[in-house]
Amino acid sequence: MKIFNFKSATNTKDAAKMATGRATFLAGGMTLLPAMKLRLAAYSDIINIKKIKGLSGIKVSSKSIKIGSTTTHAEVSSSKEVGKSISSLAVLADGIGDPQVRNRGTIGGSIANNDPAADYPSACLALKATIHTNKRKIPADKFFKGMFETDLKKAELIEAVEFEVPEKSAYVKYPNPASRYAIVGVYVAKYKNEVRVAITGAGSCVYRSKELESALSSNFSPSAIDAVRISNKELNSDIHASADYRAHLIKVMTSKAVSNC
Ligand SMILES: Cc1cc2nc3c(=O)[nH]c(=O)nc-3n(C[C@H](O)[C@H](O)[C@H](O)COP(=O)(O)OP(=O)(O)OC[C@H]3O[C@@H](n4cnc5c(N)ncnc54)[C@H](O)[C@@H]3O)c2cc1C
Repeated sequence: MKIFNFKSATNTKDAAKMATGRATFLAGGMTLLPAMKLRLAAYSDIINIKKIKGLSGIKVSSKSIKIGSTTTHAEVSSSKEVGKSISSLAVLADGIGDPQVRNRGTIGGSIANNDPAADYPSACLALKATIHTNKRKIPADKFFKGMFETDLKKAELIEAVEFEVPEKSAYVKYPNPASRYAIVGVYVAKYKNEVRVAITGAGSCVYRSKELESALSSNFSPSAIDAVRISNKELNSDIHASADYRAHLIKVMTSKAVSNC
C-alpha cells in the first residue's frame, strides 16, 4: 500500500513551504506516478503544482521564448508563436511519446527529471536556455549534472525555461519505436558567433559535442561532419543499441539536423 499526503499549492511560495520531509512536486505525473507504482520511488508528501497560476504559458520576444514550467508538450507543439520563432522546439515537443503523454507531460517535469533519453534537455543545452526557479536563474550548461540528476536543490521549483532564439536550428532523433524516447537525439543551433550541438539518448546524461561544434563552426554543412570521429567510449550499450551503433547514429542525426536547418 502506498501512503502519502496529497497537497495542492496555489502559489510557488506555498509549494516550497510544503516541500518538507520526503516531499516531491507533481506536474503531469507521467514519470512520477509510474515510478511510484513500480516502487522505484516513495514519498511522504505529493505537492500538486498544476493549480499554480502563472506557471503555465508561453511568452515570445524577438530574442527569447519563455515557457512556463507546467506548460504541456502539446501546448508547445501547437503554439503558433513557438512554430514561428523556434520551429525546431515545436518539432521536438510534437515527437515526445504519444498524445496522452503530450497532453499531460510538462516541460518543467521533463527537465527536472533529466532522463538520459529525454528530448527537452538537448533543447536547453543547444538553445542556451536559462532555467528560472523560485530561487535563482540557472544556465542550462550548469543544470544537468548526471543521470536523473540536476542542480535543483530541495524545495526548488522550476518556474519557467527561457530559450535564446537562434539564427537556425533543428532537432532530429532516432526514437525507440515503443516509447519514442531518443535512442539518439541531436539538437543543432546556429547563433551569430557559435554553433551548439547537444546530444541526448547516447550517454548517461545529455551533453554538448565539442568535436561536432568545432567542425560545424568552421563549415556549417553536413559534409563538415564526415571527418569527425565519434568515440564510443562513454556511450550507452543496451538492448536497444550498441555503443558503436549510437556513435554512428550521432553522425547521421547531426548531418540530418544540419540539412534541416
Ligand atoms: C509512455 C511514455 C513515453 C514517453 N516518451 C517520451 C519521449 O519520447 N521523450 C521525452 O522526452 N519524454 C518522454 N516521456 C516523459 C514525459 O515527457 C514526461 O512528461 C516527463 O518526463 C515528466 O513530466 P511530467 O510533467 O509528467 O512530470 P512529473 O512526472 O509530474 O514529475 C517528474 C519529476 O519532476 C519533478 N518536477 C515536476 N515539475 C517540476 C517543477 N516545475 N520544478 C521542479 N521539479 C519538478 C517531480 O517532482 C518529479 O520528480 C514519456 C513518458 C511516458 C509515460
